[in-house]
Amino acid sequence: MLLDTVKRFMEEEIYPHEDLVDRDGEVPIELGRQIEARSKQAGLFAANLPESIGGGGLDYEAMHIIEREFGKTSHALHSWIARPTEILLACAGEQVERYLLPCVTGGKRELFALTEPEAGSDIMSMRTNARRNGKDWILNGSKHFISGPVMPDFAIVFAATGSDETPRGQRRRITAFLVDVGEKGFDIAVGNKCVSYRGYHTFRLNFTDVRLGPGQILGEEGYGLELAGKWLGMGRVWVGAVCCGKAERLFQMAVEWAANRKQFGQPIGRFQGTGFKLADMAVELRAADLLVEDAVRRANAKTMTDVDASMVKLYCSEMLGRIADNTVQIYGGMGLMEELPVQRLWRDSRLERIWDGTSEIQRHIISRSILRPLGA
Ligand SMILES: Cc1cc2nc3c(=O)[nH]c(=O)nc-3n(C[C@H](O)[C@H](O)[C@H](O)COP(=O)(O)OP(=O)(O)OC[C@H]3O[C@@H](n4cnc5c(N)ncnc54)[C@H](O)[C@@H]3O)c2cc1C
Repeated sequence: MLLDTVKRFMEEEIYPHEDLVDRDGEVPIELGRQIEARSKQAGLFAANLPESIGGGGLDYEAMHIIEREFGKTSHALHSWIARPTEILLACAGEQVERYLLPCVTGGKRELFALTEPEAGSDIMSMRTNARRNGKDWILNGSKHFISGPVMPDFAIVFAATGSDETPRGQRRRITAFLVDVGEKGFDIAVGNKCVSYRGYHTFRLNFTDVRLGPGQILGEEGYGLELAGKWLGMGRVWVGAVCCGKAERLFQMAVEWAANRKQFGQPIGRFQGTGFKLADMAVELRAADLLVEDAVRRANAKTMTDVDASMVKLYCSEMLGRIADNTVQIYGGMGLMEELPVQRLWRDSRLERIWDGTSEIQRHIISRSILRPLGA
């Protein structure tokens, strides 16, 4: 039933707008609001958050069905159907009314602000910092590539608030702050335009002596890395699901083209050079889906590790890269023409190997887990 609901929603509310959004690089605000409103009617809005606070109360297995279908289209469109970050469940006291509940109803939108111009993969080198001033904190620094469908109402900003001694040496203490757009000293502007998911905005955030009360800390002081880790862990599994959805759509296009396009008097799929590509695509897509399903089951059982999530992100995003490239190849010249959606899906696919931690960073996490126990 859930799959039918999502598929119907995509057919009626999302797919008809893909070309316009890619061409104009913008989701018209009325269209975004319409998707938002209709997704609420369909029960898809904030489906990931608990029913006790007004969310859909879906578990990870159900969310997997949704994320995989959403993956078939552009982030610029499906991100209007909010799945507020679960780390907002760390909201306490007044924060619940001010931040968490409005995100569930769509009254407010958040950004997750970790990456900085000088601190991308090496997030622990972040320069954004907050220092104590009486009971308050004074925030300085900048973030970039912080993405969302529309100008947000607040950002979850990760900042260094000191350093701690750990068995592996000094580690910076990171704290998450809830920072309202409009706060004195907080500048936000639309940033670089991305060729993947055109119309999905990246924002540049600058903080100059922004004064924040103690009630602006999400979770506890020094707890930011744990919160970021939670977001990145499940986020990487959802990237995997998105990649499988997109790969399936590309695969279906490739199959149809290979069966119907004729050269040398026969369908190009009859040439082994093309048919074997389809065989490899089918096997890789099946393997990727199984990897996501396994991680989702582990996440539901609360046994999923960072390495599980990295394996999913790495394999699925690289699988999608190969399938997207092979689909363009099977289409020949037409694969690169703006008239067909293949080139758009190929462009969109490229981002998946970069955000939420690049392929190299996933390989680093996996290889360290193998070698560290041996002291290497
Ligand atoms: C469209 C878009 C939306 C985004 N949205 C958000 C968001 O909402 N919030 C947020 O916080 N961030 C966001 N990001 C940032 C994203 O997570 C970073 O771009 C990503 O983590 C990589 O950082 P970087 O771009 O600075 O690349 P760099 O870290 O500069 O990496 C450049 C290259 O060096 C390689 N490299 C770096 N270190 C190593 C290493 N130790 N070993 C091997 N290779 C290495 C990388 O793999 C990569 O190939 C977004 C990015 C994009 C493009």
